[in-house]
Amino acid sequence: MKRGLFKTGAIVLNSFDYGESDRILTFYTHDFGKLRGIAKGARRSKKRFVGNLDPMSRLDIVFFHSDKSELVRVEEAKLADAYPGLKAGIDALSVGCYLLELTSEMTREGQRLPQVYNLLAGFLKAIEEGADPGAYTRFFEIRLLSMLGYLPHLDACVVCRKTDVEPQKRFSSERGGVVCRACSTGAAGLIPVSSATAGMLAISAKLEFDKLERLKPNAAFMDEGERLLYDFIKFQIGKELKTKRFLEKMRKAEARV
Ligand SMILES: [Zn+2]
Repeated sequence: MKRGLFKTGAIVLNSFDYGESDRILTFYTHDFGKLRGIAKGARRSKKRFVGNLDPMSRLDIVFFHSDKSELVRVEEAKLADAYPGLKAGIDALSVGCYLLELTSEMTREGQRLPQVYNLLAGFLKAIEEGADPGAYTRFFEIRLLSMLGYLPHLDACVVCRKTDVEPQKRFSSERGGVVCRACSTGAAGLIPVSSATAGMLAISAKLEFDKLERLKPNAAFMDEGERLLYDFIKFQIGKELKTKRFLEKMRKAEARV
């Protein structure tokens, strides 16, 4: 990126107060990918930072980039969408937080993918407007993996490339896809997955966004899809996600009530 002033759409992935009145933020932007920036005097100046700089806000920002700093300097930030409906309930809010953390952990600075920005903005909006948070989280995960070049092999065996007709398949995060019976001997950490789930995951990775609501995932898809994708994501980033642990705790608490 050249030195200068730039304007772009940005979704706040996370932010924290810094010093007396500044705020440090991580954004996913439409034109520049993931960026880290500082908003000087953010807690004093209501004029330049109309709305807020809280996570899960979509903004139109103007920032200054110089070669001397790792952080861009946020000059202006105008709120485009605060997703109030997402923030009104704990379920939607925690799913929203998971999508932000996942985007933050899976992407790296310098990689410019407007489709990732559109994906995140579109899914936050869809869940705010009532799309099934569980199903849409799975669709988000597989589409994000695909955009970043990590789409797992879900049809033919990833090792021998033979098409497996068995209704029950096995998935290996290490191999990056489903493995047939012959190739799975001795492999560790295999996750059982039905052909139906593997098929729906493959479809939901490619389908036009507007058509996703036509997919009607069953309980097996929700269960297997979640296990498989999270195992694969953990394998890719090499760690657990904080918001995922929170989602799991919440679900256990709900089950006890
Ligand atoms: Zn095989």
